[in-house]
Amino acid sequence: MAIRPILTAEQPLLREKSKKVTRFGDTLHRLVEDMLDTVRAAYGLGLAAPQIGVLQRVFVVEMPAEYDDDDNEIEPAETYVLVNPEIIQSRGEEELEEGCLSVPGYRGLVKRATYVVIKGQDADGHNVRYRAEGLLAQAFQHELDHLDGVLYLDRLESADKLFRIGEHESEALEVDAE
Ligand SMILES: [Zn+2]
Repeated sequence: MAIRPILTAEQPLLREKSKKVTRFGDTLHRLVEDMLDTVRAAYGLGLAAPQIGVLQRVFVVEMPAEYDDDDNEIEPAETYVLVNPEIIQSRGEEELEEGCLSVPGYRGLVKRATYVVIKGQDADGHNVRYRAEGLLAQAFQHELDHLDGVLYLDRLESADKLFRIGEHESEALEVDAE
């Protein structure tokens, strides 16, 4: 198990198309474990293999646990490992705010389907299929894009859909200081 460095947007490998996984052995299991360690360490929601330099069609998504006001866990974290994923159904469209571990310091507004059905395999090669809406559907679409060399930056309709994290807060602070 290991935390691996995450490539950032200017690195050309992120623009390449990943290859279909054909071997479901120890190497794949280690890759998936490293991806989970890496995404957790970065407090991310999802990570695709090319983001750590591996051009294989694998991504992980982890929806965080939910807690009540007294810090009791009411919903455990949900972990999804998708190998050779394909979206086989999608519905609706919504403009959503999105970030990426490969684009640190920024967020953008991107149009995504509101509902998807995704199929693929797990790390052992068993077929899996998930229905997803909202944040989970958005995460699946974002991570699948990575496997085709697409970043959310490529989906922005205009430059003003991209903004720095904390920009609004710092503006507010300046106003207060005057
Ligand atoms: Zn990303």
